This record gives sequence, C-alpha cells and structure tokens, in this order.
Amino acid sequence: MRSPAPLLRALLLLLSAGSLAAAAAAPVSRDDPESSDPGRKRISTAAGSAVVVSANPLATSAALRVLKDGGTAADALVTAQAVLAVVEPQSSGLAGGGFLLYWDAKQQALNVLDGREVAPERSRAGDLLSPSGEPLPWRDATARLNAIGIPGTVALLWEAHQQYGRLPWAGTLQPAIQLAKAGFMPSPRLLRSISLAQRIGAGHSKTFQELYLPGGKPPPADQIFRNPVLASTLETLARNGGPDFYQGTLSRLILREMAALQASEPEFRGWSATDLASYAVLHRQPLCSEQLAHRVCTMPPPSSGGVGLLQTLALLNQSTDLTLSSAADPKAWLQLAKAQAWADADRLYWVHDPIDATVPAAALLNPSYIRTRFKSMQATPAAQPLPGLPAGMDRYPYGHPDKGREQGTTQVTVVDEFGNIASYTSSVETVFGSRHLVAGMVMNNQLTDFAFEPTIGGQPVANRRLPGRRPMSSMAPTLVFRNGKPVLALGSPGGRSIPHLLSRVLLASLIWNEPPQRAVGLPHLSSRGQRLVLEQDPPLVWPLPLNQLQITNQPARLQRIGSGTALVQKINGRWHGAADPRREGTAMAITDLSSHHSRVQTQDLKSDP
Ligand code: GLU
Repeated sequence: MRSPAPLLRALLLLLSAGSLAAAAAAPVSRDDPESSDPGRKRISTAAGSAVVVSANPLATSAALRVLKDGGTAADALVTAQAVLAVVEPQSSGLAGGGFLLYWDAKQQALNVLDGREVAPERSRAGDLLSPSGEPLPWRDATARLNAIGIPGTVALLWEAHQQYGRLPWAGTLQPAIQLAKAGFMPSPRLLRSISLAQRIGAGHSKTFQELYLPGGKPPPADQIFRNPVLASTLETLARNGGPDFYQGTLSRLILREMAALQASEPEFRGWSATDLASYAVLHRQPLCSEQLAHRVCTMPPPSSGGVGLLQTLALLNQSTDLTLSSAADPKAWLQLAKAQAWADADRLYWVHDPIDATVPAAALLNPSYIRTRFKSMQATPAAQPLPGLPAGMDRYPYGHPDKGREQGTTQVTVVDEFGNIASYTSSVETVFGSRHLVAGMVMNNQLTDFAFEPTIGGQPVANRRLPGRRPMSSMAPTLVFRNGKPVLALGSPGGRSIPHLLSRVLLASLIWNEPPQRAVGLPHLSSRGQRLVLEQDPPLVWPLPLNQLQITNQPARLQRIGSGTALVQKINGRWHGAADPRREGTAMAITDLSSHHSRVQTQDLKSDP
C-alpha cells in the first residue's frame, strides 16, 4: 500500500498555501517536457581536494577515476560527458551543444568555450513555420529535422582537452565505450525519460524505437542496456580524435545518415560537408559583475541566461535590507521573483547570437541602467514588465517574441587537485532532443531555441534563425570569485528557468550562508510571465508559510521544478560538492591526499591521436 506521507505533506502544503493551486499531474508540454524525479530527498554531497558533481553516478565515478589518475578537470569533463551520452542520453550527448567555463589555475585565467549548435547553411528563417506561415506547434517542431543544429559538443570537448587536458584523449573515452558495449542497468530516470519521449512522440524515428522502445516499450528495468552503435562511434572518436566528427569518417557517416532521413521530411534541405567542416568552437570573454560581495562570472551571449542571472543579482543587490535577510524572509523571495521577471524582460528581448555585434550585454548590466530599472521595478506592480532601453538604444529595434521554455540538458561541475575548475552545461534541448538517432547518437533539436517567427509586427525578431547563427540559450555555467580566487562554481538545466534557479541558489549560498546541500535542496520559485511558480514537494521544505509569497497581481501556482544543479564551493580551504536531488545527481570527491599525490606528480603528458 502507498505510504500516506507524501499525500499528507501535499495537503499540509496546500493548507499552508491558502488558495494555491497545484498544477495538473505530469504535464507534457512546452512548459514541462521533463519533470523532477518524484520522491527523491537524499542530497548527494562530497568534500575533498578534488570534486566531481554530475547528473548520474556512473558519470561522476568515471570522471573521479580520471582525476585520481592525475587528469585535469578537462580530462574528467570529457569522460563525464561521454558517459552521460551513454547513460543519460535524454539530456545531453555527442550530437548536442554546450558551454564551458574553465578556470585555468596555472594561468589564473577564466576561459569560456562556446560549443553551441549552429543553423546549417541551407536553413531559412521560416523553417519552423507551417506552409500557411504560422509557427509550428511546439511538439511538432521538436521532432523536425529542421530543428537539428550542427552539433558543437565534440568540438568543445576536443578543444577543452587540447588546451587543458593532461591524459591521452583515447583513454578519457574508454569508460563510455565500455558502458555502451558491455551495458549498464538503466536508471529509473532514463526509463521515465524514454516513456516521456514516447508520449511526446517517437513514431517518426525508427532508430529511436529500435533502441529505446524494443517491442514498443521502454527496456526492462532489470536488464542490462547496451548501445553498440554508439560504442562504435565512440571508438572511432577515440581513435581518430574530435576533428573526425567534422571532417573524417564520422562526418561522412553523419552526412549519409542525415541525407537518408531527408526522404521522410522533404522540407528539410539537408546538411552540407561544409556545415560540419566549418563548425568552430568560439572562445569568448566571460561576462562578469560584482554582485552580493563577490565577483560573479558567467556565460555571455548567445546565452541570455548569463545576462539574466547577473541582472537578477544586480536588481537584488539594490535592496538595502537584502544582506540581513534569511531563507525565512518573504521579502527576499518576493524581491527575487520580481527581479527574475524584470531580468527576463530584457534578456529575452535583446539577447541573440552576438555575430552581428549588436547585443547590448554590457549596457544591460551598467550600474546606472540597473538603478533606473530597479526604480521602475519598485514603482510598478507589473508582473510582466517591458524590456528597458539600455544606453545606446533610443528605440525598440526588434519585434517582441512570445515567451516559452524547453528542457533536455545536464550540468557537470569539476574541480581538480591542480585547482582547475570546469563548469559545463550541455544540452540536446528537449528530452532526447529530436528523437532522431544518427550513428547511435541522439540528435539535438536546439534550433527550436530560435524564435519561430522571423518578424513580428513588421520588425525582425532579435533571435531569428539565420544560416550560421547560434540560437539564444538560457544555459549559464557560472564561477564565483572572492579576492580574485574562485570560491564557487555551479550551473543547472531548466530551460528558460535557468537564471531563476541559479539566482536562488546564489542568494542562498552568498547571502543566506546556506551550506551547499541546502543551497541546492531549498525550494525554487520561478516568475513566468503572469504566474509565479512555487516549487511543489521540494527536497527541503519551504522555510516559510507559502501564503506569505502570494501577491495579488501575480497568481501563484504549485508545480514541480526539475532543476539539476551541480555545485562546488570552497569552505575553509576544502572543496564541497552537492548534487541536485531533483534528478539522479551525484557528488564524489578525492579525500585521501597523501596516497594520491605521487601519482599526480609523476604523470606523463598526454599523447593525442
Ligand atoms: N535549450 C535550452 C537552452 O539552451 C536548455 C534546455 C534545458 O535547460 O533543459 O537554453
């Protein structure tokens, strides 16, 4: 019989929340394509001289092994991402894209790699419009070949390894090859994600059905699951190196399989060899700002999540009583909700691929602009603020797009014994991306992150699709510094809510002085247009009565929030990691310094394929 505890808890929550309504169970929609894991409350933590936090225990342990063998955070990251491609294919993989913030301890430099997907050269601005010119229904669009961007993940991993790796590339891929070949027990989340993908629609993909829906059902929970095709792709990658994905055996295989899929979707004009060969990881400058008595550095455009996170913190920073607040203070939560909404208004309007050099990221964070926005925010009850006009803009040059939200993403955060730190957010967009598999890899559907309508009200939309462009993202891997030294690193999936989730975690860590496990486990709130979403059944209970968070002009709703924060924080000279219990996140650390040190010191340099 089912334990009454969760029901009772939900009832008490509802009573304490007065008229708060819970969202319908397990919706599958643009707003909620992936949910949090029900009933998980244990928060995985670990502390030591080196720490790995990822969304899956197999990925974390494989990456920790790499650190124990003297690898850097970059080596461990390659291993973690490759393993995740096998064991958590619903959220990220080799045919997706991502962003990396990498603190290079030796150079004392923060590096930013942009491995976001790119629109192929034959794509057109209206590729996700119906023949009559209407935006395609979201679910329909997520399955389109026209939604698949030229993947950046392998290029990013290769570049990170070339620049900051220490162990041989081929070795870093071995754990993933082993798991894909010999198999692993599918996790409950993987099986739930397969069911979710089936509900969203997988009928268009024969390869997906053959691998993930044998006999029309997800694979049995008690049997080893293998992906031999992906194992062979990983072996080729291990042998030939990352460039093979773009100009080599693998690129030819990818082009062949994409061309074969074209027959099922005539509107898709296909990929050219140049699309893959010209893909480039971009080195960008981090977006940094002094906030909450720290220097917070995050992902610049094409991420709007970084701008949104820093604006949210900057608006919060304007409240004089914030430093005295605690997690039980309704004023701080309400201020956070408001700041999220105001930051969203700007970032979702202004930010797009900076390829045309017109994104006013610095102006949106300028202190005098923030002061003006804060004054308007305090004076206006509006739950749906309009974007502002930062310095240099005297009018609104773009059409105003609709808001929306997507998910299918993962976060890996690593600190190694050399002091290097990787904060990496990686995505295939929706759960299992487009559900198309090529060479055993889940193909992303990241191009649904472009505005579907290229013009609105006669004006171009900033984030419109153009060949060679990268779609605007909300992913925001972040590092926090104090006195020039890194003290915290984090990131999370969560689609358009990412800056909401990260601002709440940073508020908890930096202002409320909550320890890492509480910082990730405390509830989330997310200001979504007219509505304030309060987390239903959070890992740690709400630290205040929910009726204190209800305000008249923004109705609140209880809903599960599927964040996946991976956080590391330096406390008293030691690194502490905490993984979000809303997914299958796991933190592991090297705790035994003495036995390990000799191996690190005598390590050979890498030799690449
Ligand atoms: N595609 C989204 C983005 O780049 C991420 C989706 C997610 O976080 O689940 O912002």
